[in-house]
Amino acid sequence: MIGHAGTPVTRADCLAWDREDELAAYRERFVLPEGVIYLDGNSLGALPVQTAPSVESVIRREWGQGLVRSWNDAGWFAKPEVLGDLVAPLIGAGPGEVVIGESTSVSLFQMLTAAVRMRPGRRVVVAEERSFPTDLYLLASVQEIAGGLERRLLGPDSTLDDVLDDDVAVVLLSHVDYRTGTMHDLETVTRRIHDAGALVVWDLCHSAGAVPIDLTGAEVDFAVGCSYKYLNGGPGAPSFIYVAARHHEAAAPPLTGWHGHVDPFSFTPGYEPAPGISRFRIGTPPMISLAALESTLLMWQEIDLDQVRAKSLALTDLFIDLVETRLGAWVSEVVVPRDHAARGSQVSVRVDNGYAVMQALIDRGVIGDFRAPDLMRFGFAPLYLSATDVWDAVAVLAEILETNAWQAPQYAVRQSVT
Ligand SMILES: *Cc1c(COP(=O)(O)O)cnc(C)c1O
Repeated sequence: MIGHAGTPVTRADCLAWDREDELAAYRERFVLPEGVIYLDGNSLGALPVQTAPSVESVIRREWGQGLVRSWNDAGWFAKPEVLGDLVAPLIGAGPGEVVIGESTSVSLFQMLTAAVRMRPGRRVVVAEERSFPTDLYLLASVQEIAGGLERRLLGPDSTLDDVLDDDVAVVLLSHVDYRTGTMHDLETVTRRIHDAGALVVWDLCHSAGAVPIDLTGAEVDFAVGCSYKYLNGGPGAPSFIYVAARHHEAAAPPLTGWHGHVDPFSFTPGYEPAPGISRFRIGTPPMISLAALESTLLMWQEIDLDQVRAKSLALTDLFIDLVETRLGAWVSEVVVPRDHAARGSQVSVRVDNGYAVMQALIDRGVIGDFRAPDLMRFGFAPLYLSATDVWDAVAVLAEILETNAWQAPQYAVRQSVT
């Protein structure tokens, strides 16, 4: 823990903890503006130092000089699988089980449909009522296309036991909830779903790069995740797709593009899926975006996720403690499990006028975000945050609340992205 049990944490305690922090050196591996405390790495991860030169080199050498030859010479064609193999150790997958896909939304559609097709006699898909909306929107399309597929929603007070039966084909779950930071027990939940004869699709958007994940150990069927959040792949970086090797032959993704074909350059009129994970590819991948993603994934190869997790829990514990002891008069609820096993790497705080308070905070260099109707959301990316950052962020927030600085009229104006 940061500080000493029984006495209030001080800024000096935070400085002392940071001096012992084995991940502290990674701060230098990121470009962050002077004076900014970045608590939104769960929405868009920070820019790694090596990304701009790597991307520039791909643009100048591979595109500019290599031209179309780079599909072979620079290994462009195989990049989705090569980068998939770099994601694999971060989520406990084996080689050949992960490929870089399209946006998370498109990849979810690919996987959900493939999963539903693998349980033809069953007519129900279970999802969470409060899941990230795109997951539910895509599920609605899958239902329509599959014809007569029923959706059963898990409410905040219901459990899997309430919804699982012999009709359930697939269960779609977020490992860490994007609003509350609550984390499922991947292994126990997967086992419960398998016991009911259903398949599971895990959405790892808010856990990949923040929490150690063992997809192989938990025998997960399908998973998808964002690479632009904790993994720092850059705005719009494509998602990753995991399909357990045992399902590769049976999986039939609905979007059958030429990059998923067994022999794309035969240009034959009939579709025949590639063996293995490659059948989840669709069309020409965004090479410049993949160059950015590759540069960050190479850095991630050397990082110990257990260390990341330990620091994440220390920072979220500190934040919760400081908010409760210093901001109790304004904060009606700190929305995150106190139990470490059920906590991701974020903390949401319920505050009246949370939107305006967040705008005032961002104006002072402390960047978090806001999720309607009333949650101020803070993400803790351990590679570039210190305990002292957390201390300073809470001090700025306290000042805004004590002085009512958030009441300035400009903070009430809603921007399109919150
Ligand atoms: C961030 C996020 C997405 C984003 O999907 P995109 O297609 O990349 O915009 C989807 N699902 C969850 C759970 C997320 O947190």
